[in-house]
Amino acid sequence: MLPGVLTSGKQQQLQLQRERAAHHEAGHALAAFARELPVVSASITTVRSGFFFTSWSVEGFVDAKDYDDTDDQLIAAAGIDAEALWTAAVCGGSFKSRRRAAVYDNPSDAGKVRDLVRLTALTVDAAYAWSYDLLVEQWGAVEAMAAALLEDGFVSGRDLARLL
Ligand SMILES: [Zn+2]
Repeated sequence: MLPGVLTSGKQQQLQLQRERAAHHEAGHALAAFARELPVVSASITTVRSGFFFTSWSVEGFVDAKDYDDTDDQLIAAAGIDAEALWTAAVCGGSFKSRRRAAVYDNPSDAGKVRDLVRLTALTVDAAYAWSYDLLVEQWGAVEAMAAALLEDGFVSGRDLARLL
């Protein structure tokens, strides 16, 4: 037996979390590009704390001059919806139930809390409608960006833009 070949339940769980994180961040990045905001980089990092989880972020656009509350809201919604679209496709369940899970799972996740603060501050439905349409229309770009994140963990904004 080769122990290295065996995949434990925890490792499978971690891989699913990494893929979910990559699609979530790709959604944020796609929305930022759609709003013509600069993306410096996106990253996903595997952190172990008690049980497996991952931490992740998209950097750059918050420093842009024209960045406003609407951008904040749309980018936040796109991350949640990309995560929900991917989870519904891969793990099953309806998109709406997966969106609810994407919003309410991992309440201790600081990045997710930031997304929610942005979303609850303004009109949520309009942001979700925009992000959903954008994601469905450009899902190929989301998959390409997520694949790049899964391979390298860190992708520059310039490299992400090439995948649009
Ligand atoms: Zn997010």
